Amino acid sequence: MSNIRFKALQDVLSRTIPEVKPPSSKISDYFGANVFDKKKMKEYLSTEAYQGIINSIEKGEPIPRDLAEQIAAAMKSWALGKGATHYTHWFQPLTGTTAEKHDAFFEPTADGGAIERFSGDALAQQEPDASSFPSGGIRNTFEARGYTAWDPSSPAFLMARTLCIPTVFVSYTGEALDYKVPLLKALSVLDKAAVDVCHYFDKGIEKVNASLGIEQEYFLVDIALFNARPDLYLTGRTLFGHISAKNQQLEDHYFGSIPGRVYAYMQDMEAEALLLGIPLKTRHNEVAPSQFECAPIYEEINLAIDHNQLLMDVMDRVARRHNFKVLLHEKPYAGINGSGKHNNWSLITNTGKNLLSPGKTPKNNLMFLTFFVNTIKAVYEHADLLRASISSVNNDHRLGANEAPPAIISIFLGSQLNDVLDEIETSRISKKIKEDNLLWQGIPKIPQILPDNTDRNRTSPFAFTGNKFELRAVGSSANSASPMTVLNLIVADQLKKFKYDVDKLIKKGEKKDLALLMVIKRYIKESKNIRFEGNGYSDAWEKEAEARGLANIKTTPKALDAMLSEKTDILFAETGIFTPREAHARHEILLDAFYKKLQIEARVIGELVLNVIIPAAIAYQSKLIENVKGLKDLGLSSDTYAAQLDIITKISEHVNFIKTNVEQMVNERKKANVIEDLRQRAIDYDEKVKSFFQPIRYHVDKLEQLVDDTLWPLPKFRELLFIK
Ligand code: ADP
Ligand code: MG
Repeated sequence: MSNIRFKALQDVLSRTIPEVKPPSSKISDYFGANVFDKKKMKEYLSTEAYQGIINSIEKGEPIPRDLAEQIAAAMKSWALGKGATHYTHWFQPLTGTTAEKHDAFFEPTADGGAIERFSGDALAQQEPDASSFPSGGIRNTFEARGYTAWDPSSPAFLMARTLCIPTVFVSYTGEALDYKVPLLKALSVLDKAAVDVCHYFDKGIEKVNASLGIEQEYFLVDIALFNARPDLYLTGRTLFGHISAKNQQLEDHYFGSIPGRVYAYMQDMEAEALLLGIPLKTRHNEVAPSQFECAPIYEEINLAIDHNQLLMDVMDRVARRHNFKVLLHEKPYAGINGSGKHNNWSLITNTGKNLLSPGKTPKNNLMFLTFFVNTIKAVYEHADLLRASISSVNNDHRLGANEAPPAIISIFLGSQLNDVLDEIETSRISKKIKEDNLLWQGIPKIPQILPDNTDRNRTSPFAFTGNKFELRAVGSSANSASPMTVLNLIVADQLKKFKYDVDKLIKKGEKKDLALLMVIKRYIKESKNIRFEGNGYSDAWEKEAEARGLANIKTTPKALDAMLSEKTDILFAETGIFTPREAHARHEILLDAFYKKLQIEARVIGELVLNVIIPAAIAYQSKLIENVKGLKDLGLSSDTYAAQLDIITKISEHVNFIKTNVEQMVNERKKANVIEDLRQRAIDYDEKVKSFFQPIRYHVDKLEQLVDDTLWPLPKFRELLFIK
């Protein structure tokens, strides 16, 4: 029974490091080689067609049919030239992963031959039989028609021998069934709102887009060890395991030298990513043993999110070549750090200006303050919705667990900017100051380079880091589109309100700059409670946050309520992002995924305990009993086998506890399963079923410590975390 663990350990010890050769020693030689990007479009399209598609991309206009035909032909000849045989619409359904359905280019002809075909229609639209993707009841299975539609703003790419076309996924009745549709809508609302506000400062600005740089944390584990842990391969995390004697307490892993096998993997994975145009730049060890991070250079947000989804896929595929498994789960191992995905976000104009970068002149600083303070106000107003957008059963292990940002949304600015805002708040802006010169004196100086990294607060969920905000609470396996849709949406909504407030003052006769400053000042005051510079992990902060009226919702089913609140309803209606039907459907999908994942974990616990752990414990116990009997037969006194008797009794105690608690857990599951109301079912799973996990685990881990190592069947934490 214990064979599989030792077999796995043997496999690991016999590994050799595969030789990895990047396509060229210069990244610029191969970066984006597998992407049908602008450069290739230019090469493969007529000048007219090229201009047509660029216009469509930039203005978001639909692409005429004849143009789609030309682009399809160009894509096909590029892809065939690179050995492609199939194409697929690549999309992001609400399962959280990406989906594809491959079709061959090949088509038979009437004369018995065959040609390679790819039409404009096939590029523009497909109807995957999508009845088994989550739709929250929008799409009944009998009207199983959803369709995918080409998103030309994200370039097509080649994966293995398949041409992948990024698409949106909508129901036949037009409702969004994916992550991309709402994101694109939010970006368009943001563009308009931000450009309108930019025009107070610069009439030349025509477009504002969000930029995003995603830091991706992950764990690596040898595939043989992974396969010997059914909890890992069924749920993505270990449900049992006594903490390793050595773990992260020496803090010797972070930024340490990268082990050889891992280094080879990273190089290989990076080369694949770079070929796909994912601009990976950074790699390093993370805090926990076997935990690592990679990060690309930031990009336009829609592309950055596509690239992160693609990257997670590439990481997984390349890992197989190296006999590794990538763990993207937020909390694969209890007792050591989990993984997140920091979302570095800012706003950039078509003229190349970062709106969250403090400027050189006071006027520029007023512009910076406008976007800076509106972002703070937006997060203050809709903190609960932002919290909801990062909720998942996995992330519940991190948020508020004193290793990741707390479940309380707050904003860290750094002392300098905090002081600047305080100064504005308390300054007296006299309405009599009508002279520009004097007004500018009312704006404190903002240093252009803010010393962020050293003093910036790692315990904050939303921190300003020099020229961008960093949402640090996103889970490592999440699709960033969910929180980024919310962030862009609430900032857009806030900017609209800002413009309304400023215009009102201007209409009353106030000078423009003064009006701007007056509204900024008011917003600073109104949103003050969300700013926090202290230790987000402390109990004192929980108390203070409560006194400040900030929400602290620790679990997903309740955090998700914010998706359907009255305030959110108004936000969604005013911005047109989700219809009530879509919002309800999404809420339902998330609750459904939440309780089902707990259901799976509960089942895996039950099975492993009964089929693997208890038998191992009993096998050892029987050996001890034999031993005691033998000693007795020799006529030795009971002192000689006191230790054995003690272990025998302890094993029985643990086994009994585990067995009874698993039965009770199964009972609670049965009760929860028949609860009609989905929200209540999810809450019961969380509060009544999940509450058994920890006590059961405690006793299993005690057994792990008692039982003869050679009989223990599951790879131990020390092996999972340290043997490579
Ligand atoms: P950290 O100290 O958090 O590791 P880095 O400076 O290495 O920060 O950047 C982390 C990520 O933030 C990278 O992906 C980087 O490209 C991205 N980033 C930098 N500037 C911006 C910006 N203006 N907008 C969005 N992302 C940015
Ligand atoms: Mg960071």
